[in-house]
Amino acid sequence: QAKRRSRGGSAVFDLSMHTSAVQRLSLETSMRRALDQEAFQLHYQPIVCLQSGRLAGFEALARWPRVGQKPVSPADFIPLAEQNGLILPLGRWVIQSAVAWAAHWYHHGGQDHILPVNINVSGHQLGDPGLMDVVTGALEDHGIPGACIKVEFTESAIMENTERARAFMEALKARGIALCIDDFGTGYSSLSQLRDLPFDVVKIDRSFVRHLGGADPRHEAMLRALVSIIRALDKSTVAEGVETRAQAARLLELGCDLGQGFLFSPALAPQEAERLVASWQGFAPAGDGSRGGEGPDL
Ligand code: C2E
Ligand code: MG
Ligand code: MG
Ligand code: MG
Repeated sequence: QAKRRSRGGSAVFDLSMHTSAVQRLSLETSMRRALDQEAFQLHYQPIVCLQSGRLAGFEALARWPRVGQKPVSPADFIPLAEQNGLILPLGRWVIQSAVAWAAHWYHHGGQDHILPVNINVSGHQLGDPGLMDVVTGALEDHGIPGACIKVEFTESAIMENTERARAFMEALKARGIALCIDDFGTGYSSLSQLRDLPFDVVKIDRSFVRHLGGADPRHEAMLRALVSIIRALDKSTVAEGVETRAQAARLLELGCDLGQGFLFSPALAPQEAERLVASWQGFAPAGDGSRGGEGPDL
């Protein structure tokens, strides 16, 4: 107690620690119930080719709607699930559910190209010995090739257990599944991982995109350098958090291949995503002339 106080803590500090532990426990209880009742959902956010404006795929994002309560953000419940171990059953459910939608688009989407679904895999799931079987089982159940999904890893997921991560990645690659490194640039040791691990796609974190076009030219310089390294390694780039047409236009000029963000669409419930696929007209990033540029012809 005394020690805590002398470190600048107070009774208030203790109280808030207590409250958050209680809240965490109750959240954990309702999370277990939600899993049993299949109350989690996946929403799908489109990924768009910056050059052609075509739909390139979707990212599956977990949602937890709660009756009569505010939804909990995955930025909160995923770390909690990682702490309490529920990430294993939740992560398996995410894979099965995302593969089912990937199969729906593959069989009924009426597209002339595959719209792969990106699935987020947490580092903790690498400790799930049956994980690869869940992936292959889901693909086989639905009769779809590995090219219908991609798997996203964060840098920290890999850092926590590089050997397991590598083994899982190689198994995925052998099944024709492309690999993405997520939130690139926010972790550490990123450049050597980029060179040494079998990634196909690099998702550049929103923090790099956010300041594009701002007063400080160093943000753009950094992004330009990042994109050129990624291209030199023959991987494709997705910019996360694209919110304005000006950002999309600039990203295209910097050599970025794909974009994802509120400019195109937020993550959508499956039926809404389906409507979006059916009605997608392409997207011209510079089409509003906001940077005076000539947009790509669609
Ligand atoms: P992430 O994988 O980097 O996903 C992108 C996040 O950015 C999503 O947040 C998405 O809604 C948000 N986003 C997309 N476009 C924009 C934009 O233009 N502006 C802004 N401000 N945000 C944008 P979301 O859905 O809240 O998910 C947060 C994180 O939770 C994800 O980050 C991912 O790390 C984790 N997560 C979500 N679903 C799953 C899942 O099924 N499994 C695992 N392991 N993690 C998940
Ligand atoms: Mg992701
Ligand atoms: Mg991301
Ligand atoms: Mg991110």
